Amino acid sequence: MASVEPLEIGLVFWAEESATKTLQYLSGFGLRAGQLGVPPGLNCAEKVDEWRKALQATPVTVTSVVCCYEGEDYENIERVHETVGFTVPKYRAERIARTKEISKFGSELGVSAVSCHIGFIPAARQSALYTELRDLTRELCDACAAYRQDFVLETGQESAEVLLGFIGDVERTNLKINFDPANMILYGSGDPIAALALLADHVLSVHCKDGLAPAPGLGLGREAALGDGEVDFRAFLAQLKKMNFKGLLTIEREEPDPQTKIADVRNAIARLTAWKAEMGM
Ligand code: MG
Repeated sequence: MASVEPLEIGLVFWAEESATKTLQYLSGFGLRAGQLGVPPGLNCAEKVDEWRKALQATPVTVTSVVCCYEGEDYENIERVHETVGFTVPKYRAERIARTKEISKFGSELGVSAVSCHIGFIPAARQSALYTELRDLTRELCDACAAYRQDFVLETGQESAEVLLGFIGDVERTNLKINFDPANMILYGSGDPIAALALLADHVLSVHCKDGLAPAPGLGLGREAALGDGEVDFRAFLAQLKKMNFKGLLTIEREEPDPQTKIADVRNAIARLTAWKAEMGM
């Protein structure tokens, strides 16, 4: 696959039933790179040939495959704790197996990174859950390493300090971060720009997503169209420049209404393009 230009704008886009149509959706925004979301219903083994052919027929570059799992629910903070990632034991075995399937699918498409939310990493390093997450992260890093892939954690459900300590404890060189500034705000996990600076050495990729802090009494904020939330994107871009970040600026927008989503993505592309120009990036 072709490499991306430094700070090229990309998109998180989700594999639909037709690979060709999915890639046309991305190209329709004038984009040629992105992270491919793999929904729980996609039969990776059955679909991989179709995806390989569709990708060969376009100039699209997929920078990572993004895992999401059956049963995940981001509706409120309680449901996130109960359903997202690997923190709940009942989901663990099937999700580890699914992540390995997605890693294989990605490798067959020439994708060098696999990303997901593993769930809230507890601050208490001596807790049983912390050790369990550390061990399964090692297992997933090693599975990805067999395909020469990085295993990439989404940020934001814990503080940058906790995440940094966790990365040190996992002790795997192919463990990286997908830094999502909006998640830091949505989950009240700290200032996104300071967090990005702290985690700089481990950041492989970023999401350009925006959000609003939780209302009083709620543990989870809500996503906003890029530029309409609390992320200071000029400061975010300045920090990326300071870090000499060369990856994709991957827009992520989880808006349920398809037409609104298209409008928001177009607007996000226009805003990022204008800010980059303004900052000489
Ligand atoms: Mg994200």
